Amino acid sequence: MAKTPATFNKGDHVPENGEYVCVPCGYHRKLQAGEVFPECISCMSGTDEGQHEEYIEGMEMWEKVVPIVLPPASPLPLHSSKLK
Ligand SMILES: [Zn+2]
Repeated sequence: MAKTPATFNKGDHVPENGEYVCVPCGYHRKLQAGEVFPECISCMSGTDEGQHEEYIEGMEMWEKVVPIVLPPASPLPLHSSKLK
């Protein structure tokens, strides 16, 4: 099952605690489960004053910020041959 990033509209209920990003402008906002997605105070998407015409009322505009999990890096050679 492919994991597609869930997107949400203003007025949707926040499914889980976390940080969400306004898709049009990249504004981050922390929200808690049970809250309702607000309009973005940064770009006002989801309102009549929105700067992004393609993101009008009802369009998806919040997306969960997925914490970046770094892949286990190949261990750095602690005993590098390039010792000073
Ligand atoms: Zn925004």
